[in-house]
Formats: sequence, C-alpha cells, structure tokens
Amino acid sequence: MGNRLQDKVAIVTGAAKGIGFATAQRFAEEGAKVIVTDINLEAVTAAIARMANAEAYAMNVTDRASIQAVIDAVIQKHGRVDILNNAGITQDARLVKMTEAQFDAVIDVNLKGVFNCTQLVVPHMLEKGSGAIVNASSVMGLYGNFDQINYSATKFGVIGFTKTWSRELGPKGIRVNAVCPGFIATEMVKAMPENIFQDIEKRSWLGRLGTPEEMANVYLFLTSAEASYVNGVALEASGGISL
Ligand code: NAD
Repeated sequence: MGNRLQDKVAIVTGAAKGIGFATAQRFAEEGAKVIVTDINLEAVTAAIARMANAEAYAMNVTDRASIQAVIDAVIQKHGRVDILNNAGITQDARLVKMTEAQFDAVIDVNLKGVFNCTQLVVPHMLEKGSGAIVNASSVMGLYGNFDQINYSATKFGVIGFTKTWSRELGPKGIRVNAVCPGFIATEMVKAMPENIFQDIEKRSWLGRLGTPEEMANVYLFLTSAEASYVNGVALEASGGISL
C-alpha cells in the first residue's frame, strides 16, 4: 500500500481481467478511487469483489452513451477524473484473408474506443487544469506483426493520438502517454497458437512473457506525479523483445 495516487479518480476501461484488472488493483493500492469498467458488468462486479476503493460500472468503449453515463456518475460522485484507455481486442488474419467485419470490429474498439473515451473525459480535466491519460498501445504499434494488420494499425493509431493529444493538452496541464507492452500472459496472448507462444518466449531477452502486474507498474508510473515531466511518450515494456 502507498499513496502515489492519493486523491486521484481513475477510470480504467476493459478492466474485468488481464492488464486492466491488474492496473485497477495497483491504482487502488496506491490510494486512487478506481472506477473499474468493462463491457461485461457481471465480470467486472465479480472482479472487484475483494477490492477496496473500487466501483464497478458497465462501459462499452464503442458506445458513447454508455461512456457518458459513467463519466457523469463519476463526476457527480467524486468531482474529478483521470483515465486509462486499456480496452482492446484482437481478430487476427493476414491481409488477403481478413474480413471487413474483423477489420471494423478491431478499429471500433481499439482506435475509436480510445477516441470516444478521451474526448468525453477531457472536458472535465480541462475544467480542473490537470489530468493524466494513458493509452494502451503495443509493440505491434511500433513494429507491426504478421497476421495482425487491423490490430497493428490501431496500435500505431493510438500512438498517433498520444503524440497529438500531448501537444494539444500538455499546455492545459494534461499529460498523455502510451504503453507498448510486449507479450504479457493474459487471455489475449494465450489465445495465440502454441508454436507462436513458445517462439515468443525464446525471442524475449528476459526469456519469458511479462505479467499483468509488471504492466500495472508501468501504468502507475506514467499516471503518478513521478512522471510529471513525461508527456507524449510511447513507453515500450517488452523485456526488449524488439532488440
Ligand atoms: P484481455 O483480453 O485480457 O482483457 C481485455 C478486456 O477488455 C476484457 O475484460 C474485455 O471484456 C474488455 N473489452 C473488450 N471489448 C470491450 C469494449 N468494447 N468495451 C469495454 N471493454 C471491452 O486483454 P489484455 O491482454 O489485458 O490487454 C489489455 C490491453 O493491452 C489491450 O488494449 C491490448 O491490446 C493491450 N496489449 C496487450 C498485450 C498482451 O500481451 N496481453 C500486449 C500488448 C498490448
């Protein structure tokens, strides 16, 4: 337990499991009031059952009305808000095989979802003249990946948002950064074929996958006052897999 996020109110999207859940837990340990949101209300309610300082809400990042409803409730109750854009999905296929539906679904959640949440939350940060936004990109948003054309494009796009918003919002006291995780042991990665999974472990210079808790610490740093002069970065946390 610490106080690195004392008096902060953090909305974490897609936080019923994986990196989002670990981050919500870490933020709560550091004194934040954490608004733990996910498309699946039952899952997110169950996830926070033993968590102090946490509230569960249904929020679909592709549905602006659902985002607005959560933000309104949070502002009314707590008066302020910071955000973590974590929610993301994969629907992998190579260029010639990808369907339009697969392409659109991933763009909608991973790219437009980040735009939706940030656009709706920022007016409240501008009012306070402070805030810290952290977006989930990926090493795929730095280097691309075979079979992940839609996913990689969204993660490059998230870095584009991050660089642009850090210019727009930095002068107003709001920092915007991105995290680029490598391969982290969550359901998203476990869904990959076994041979690819083993190859990843071999390619990583630390010889293993990362953990959601290790990513949570990166999000914590970027959100906390320790990163008060960090703005517009895409911080790779991959064990050096790209080296
Ligand atoms: P995960 O699949 O374990 O969890 C993602 C969560 O997002 C789920 O609880 C899901 O219900 C939720 N979600 C899906 N669609 C949603 C929507 N429309 N609205 C709200 N919530 C929605 O994923 P994870 O592995 O923890 O990844 C989290 C983020 O980190 C994603 O953006 C992912 O792209 C990124 N990332 C993950 C890895 C990795 O190795 N796991 C690597 C790089 C980047």
